[in-house]
Amino acid sequence: MKFRNLNVLVYGLSVSGEWASKLLIKKHANVFLYDDNIEVLKSKTIKNCFMLNSLNENLIEQFDLIIVSPSIPLDNEFLLKASEKNITIMSEVEFASLFCKNYVAITGTNGKTTTTELVTEILKMKKKAVACGNIGYPLSRAVMEKKNYIKVVEVSSFMLEHANKFSPHVATVLNIEPDHLIRHKTMENYSRLKLSIFKNLKPNDYAVINLDDNVHVTSDTLKVTYSLKHTADVYLKEGYIYLHEHKIVAVNELNLTGKHNIANVMCAICFGYIYKITPEQIRKALINYVPEHFRIEEVGVINKIRFINDSKSTNIASTLASVEAVKGAIILILGGSNKMLDYTDLFIKLNKRVKYVVFYGEIKDKLEEANNDRFDYSKCENLTDAFNTAISHAIPNDNILLSPATASYDQYSNYIERGKHFNELVNGYETECTKK
Ligand code: ADP
Repeated sequence: MKFRNLNVLVYGLSVSGEWASKLLIKKHANVFLYDDNIEVLKSKTIKNCFMLNSLNENLIEQFDLIIVSPSIPLDNEFLLKASEKNITIMSEVEFASLFCKNYVAITGTNGKTTTTELVTEILKMKKKAVACGNIGYPLSRAVMEKKNYIKVVEVSSFMLEHANKFSPHVATVLNIEPDHLIRHKTMENYSRLKLSIFKNLKPNDYAVINLDDNVHVTSDTLKVTYSLKHTADVYLKEGYIYLHEHKIVAVNELNLTGKHNIANVMCAICFGYIYKITPEQIRKALINYVPEHFRIEEVGVINKIRFINDSKSTNIASTLASVEAVKGAIILILGGSNKMLDYTDLFIKLNKRVKYVVFYGEIKDKLEEANNDRFDYSKCENLTDAFNTAISHAIPNDNILLSPATASYDQYSNYIERGKHFNELVNGYETECTKK
């Protein structure tokens, strides 16, 4: 597809929109920018682009192409009208992928960032590779700054909504669990979107498949498998992860905890295998990997109480995985904004090592109802109160785990801000204890 002299609307000026605009300018397109948030629009100046103050139907036919931010839903009125008029609509990731020769893609409800980083570290042992996409470094930017690198693209379901030509060389869906249903409406829609990452794979491309999850690949493509329980290309035996006959790494040599992370590591090994990274190189990359903050991160042990920050957990499956990964008795802090998930399942499946639960934030009443008195609990307004309540129920050797199972947007701008606040509370408690 040629972009020279095309009239392109970039709708939504998040960081990916910004970089898509820069890439379009480089490709000599006429670029028009718009964002529903006027403040965002005012705050951005991108050289050689036309800023639009409003979008109305009459403008639609002037555009040859619309590049849409992941934050704009499918049922956006302007986009619906544009599709009626057969204007091409693309997500930023699809647009940028048109300029990539070698890229691989990772999606799933949980574990995307961890696995994207693991894959990148493994590929870097032998090749030039860069983690990009949903991880905070847009693919458009990677295309401009990292020319001959293999792009390891973290892809969210939102990014797949307008990605008809997205065609990675290797793709995986880590797992599919209930999440983002306000946007996707049904699990069927959500699953279909996630699985669409496989739809353009060619016969010499690869699908990496988690045999422990219900992810079915129908396309005619090469397959590499992994499993915690079954026979697969990458598997677990007596505490070691194997790739065929090669012992790659012992589980206890990793800086990652929990079975879910073993699955992420196994998935990453499959990518390494496809790119012919040697078992020894894969091993080196894995034992050196340290996960990002706020993912089952131990913050400290004070008065023999262990504080664990898993602020990145924003759905039921990730909280269940964290609880399984933490050893001993747990006081669990849950809460945040209401994502319209059904939490009954959480309390049915929650390990009985959870001795007390503290609910807070917008979603607290809904959690109380879903718990249905299965676990002893308190309800609090905010994280500070929830933290103090958790401490009041803790005895030596307990864990206080923040693994909220929902988004933070009711009281924070994102999970990082929430995670930092939890750490501050732990530090404050430590100072208080040392004074006594
Ligand atoms: P994502 O980018 O998909 O949000 P992260 O790697 O940032 O994934 O991890 C987010 C949360 O999900 C963390 O709480 C982490 O412990 C949990 N998690 C990571 N991998 C998995 C997995 N395979 N299954 C369930 N939970 C997971």
